[in-house]
Amino acid sequence: MRWVSLLATAGVPHAAIDRADRDDGEGLLVVPCPGAWPAAVARARADARPVVEGPPPARPSEALAVVQSALGALVRPDLRGVLVLRLDDPGGVTGTYLRPWAHPPVPSEAWAALWSNVGEIGRLSVFCSPAWVDEDGALRPSRAAQPDVWAALDQGVASGVADLECHGFTHLHPDRASWARAPDRFESKDWYREMWPPRERVEPSVESQEEIVSAWQAACGRATTIAAPGDRWGPNTIEAARRQGLQLFSSSGVCRLSLPVPTWSEGIGTHPLSEVPERPFAEGLPQVAFWHDRDMALNSPRWAREHITRWREAGATRAWAFADLAKAYGTEIDASVVDGQVVVRQAPDVPLLIEPSATA
Ligand SMILES: [Zn+2]
Repeated sequence: MRWVSLLATAGVPHAAIDRADRDDGEGLLVVPCPGAWPAAVARARADARPVVEGPPPARPSEALAVVQSALGALVRPDLRGVLVLRLDDPGGVTGTYLRPWAHPPVPSEAWAALWSNVGEIGRLSVFCSPAWVDEDGALRPSRAAQPDVWAALDQGVASGVADLECHGFTHLHPDRASWARAPDRFESKDWYREMWPPRERVEPSVESQEEIVSAWQAACGRATTIAAPGDRWGPNTIEAARRQGLQLFSSSGVCRLSLPVPTWSEGIGTHPLSEVPERPFAEGLPQVAFWHDRDMALNSPRWAREHITRWREAGATRAWAFADLAKAYGTEIDASVVDGQVVVRQAPDVPLLIEPSATA
């Protein structure tokens, strides 16, 4: 599976097949288990078609070098130095009701500083929850309950720096009546999980999770990406997000939902914004950095800037929202080597990495 993950992560078009007779005879044939498909490999070699047998090398950059060498050239979205920024929780109830997590509002200076600091190197995604739940369990728009938060978000969106993405509808267990009656409702974080809350032994149905995504979309627009509240989700969450037309799923990695089979990334780390790992961009792949509105409420308005600066010192050259990553993946690249030159016939509207860059 690592080959499939690596190709999906790098934005290299591929088809994963489980039977040799589904091979369409085009492109590089990768057979991860050596000797698995002798007839297909013999046929490919007889047609002078490139073949790679065996598992990928340990490092993604080495694996992609194998593909490039076999094909003669490789064209893919240039994902080097891309820092995908993910701010969680604005609009949701957790920071108000869950006592161990509660925090004051984010000061308006911190919002203004964030839009301006991120704007210097790109954009970010705000994973928000558009519905508020009152203490009696009643629903109302988060805009009505937290007008200052939404005024700040509107500014970020209007400036083009921020996109809104799906972080559940309420960030709360869908059974709001039980929450309203529960003695531990202000203490237990398990109540503040929406897609597959840990209180539920069996994962909620695809349809019920689709309703959550659909309610989010009715309030905020289509979205490209979902991050499940508290990172609590299951296979039905993935399917629900696919059915609602989302393209990416952010968890410890990034899942590409719109491929024929949802495919998790290899080599895209998801890190707290305040914890920059060693040489995060060494493999040329994007890295996700996340934080919460709580961090901006409890720290100085310079907090985000200080950490973004550390990421820049570690090699980040561009900040992307998830929508930008979805765009890089959204158009399959069609390229070939013609008379020793790389010809690109179709590509997404993002910078491309063409290797070798000189004449093949
Ligand atoms: Zn959250």
